[in-house]
Amino acid sequence: MKISENCLFCAIIAGKIPSTKVYEDEYVFAFRDINPQAPTHILVVPKEHIGSMDEVNSENSVFAAKIFEVIPKIAAQKGLANGYRVISNCGPDACQTVHHLHFHILGGTQLADRMA
Ligand code: 5GP
Ligand code: ZN
Repeated sequence: MKISENCLFCAIIAGKIPSTKVYEDEYVFAFRDINPQAPTHILVVPKEHIGSMDEVNSENSVFAAKIFEVIPKIAAQKGLANGYRVISNCGPDACQTVHHLHFHILGGTQLADRMA
């Protein structure tokens, strides 16, 4: 498993920085966003360090596949039966601030109809 020194989310996965964990398995870690933008705001990340969507490739895509299996389970567990939004910001134009691939699950309210 590749991890990165000086990566905030690698440190959270390793338990070096505390987080409110909502899910963990061999491939995937999920935790509450520290600055929630919706009543439910969860970050779902691969346990391997992948810098962004741009770094997903045939070698590591199992992590992306596992993340997409887990997202509906978390959504159901958190009661998001009326819907939710999944976002991954990639690069400066998308305002990516943490350079470890992550998917935001946003829900628990009626979200804006425009995404940007
Ligand atoms: P981005 O802007 O890269 O798509 O999203 C990064 C997210 O990470 C932001 O929503 C931000 O609130 C969240 N975040 C940044 N630092 C921490 C932290 O230390 N703990 C947690 N739980 N979330 C964080
Ligand atoms: Zn990382």
